[in-house]
Amino acid sequence: MDYGETIERIYQQLLLEKNYGQVAGYIPELATVDSEKFGVCLIDRRNHCYSAGDWQEQFSIQSIIKVVTLSLAYQKLDAQLWQRVGVEPSGTPFNNLSRLEHDYGIPRNPFSNAGAIVVCDVLMELFSDPREVVITMLRTLAADEDIHFTRAIAESEKSEGYRNMALAYFMKSMGNIKHEVEDVLDFYFDVCSIAVNCEQLARIFMYLAKHGRSADDRHSYLSRGQAKRINAIMLTCGFYDEAGDFAFRVGLPGKSGVGGGIVAVMPGEFSLSVWSPRLNEKGNSYRGLRFLEHFTDATEQTIF
Ligand code: GLN
Repeated sequence: MDYGETIERIYQQLLLEKNYGQVAGYIPELATVDSEKFGVCLIDRRNHCYSAGDWQEQFSIQSIIKVVTLSLAYQKLDAQLWQRVGVEPSGTPFNNLSRLEHDYGIPRNPFSNAGAIVVCDVLMELFSDPREVVITMLRTLAADEDIHFTRAIAESEKSEGYRNMALAYFMKSMGNIKHEVEDVLDFYFDVCSIAVNCEQLARIFMYLAKHGRSADDRHSYLSRGQAKRINAIMLTCGFYDEAGDFAFRVGLPGKSGVGGGIVAVMPGEFSLSVWSPRLNEKGNSYRGLRFLEHFTDATEQTIF
């Protein structure tokens, strides 16, 4: 299928529509981003690339990195990982505290902040230099060395990161964080700060469209069964308390970040990224969601 024309048509249509929502303000450095940026990129199974708008400009990956860190931990520990973090949707915002106490410090799923912080703690146990492992995986999957941490974003988030500190200290008190809380959070803020553009992001996520293998087919990161399960967690938990709405409107596994990025995957077919920094009240890109809804309606490429 030639996706280029459909992407361009929906892109132009949305540019004419009013854009809603706010740029993430709770991370001061993210609030400085131009709210009207809008980029799209799709990589298909033949490795063809279709793009529109600001697809070459880098933005903060934020929570989308949680899929990559989870994949690294899962690749090593397989089902053992689920002793530390669950796979159930939470129905709560990404930084929710109250459910964690109810669940004795075992986060409901790896895409809540609490769950992703536990996964960071696991990676610190598994690798002597986990930052290097994460950035190398991204560069290898994207076949592009130009992917880096953004110190200013990590420091900005750290300076206001009280909620994540509360989550991490609570889990430490319950025995589910093994390293020093400050070290785990430094690592978590660092991986959230990584900058990617739409093309890099779509290329990276091809491993979930290709059952564990990279877009260029040269590397394998997950078994078929593991890729199936990560896609399932993206479908049920990728958008926090809006996961049901995303499945209903878009019908693909996906993951959002408060940098305004969303990536969605059609297993066996393509990986598609959108970036638009204005977020709805659930913390997901308003225009990104609209784009993906129109796209799967127009192409009928959905898992349902
Ligand atoms: N770094 C962000 C935080 O911890 C990630 C949240 C997100 O992208 N939803 O709050």
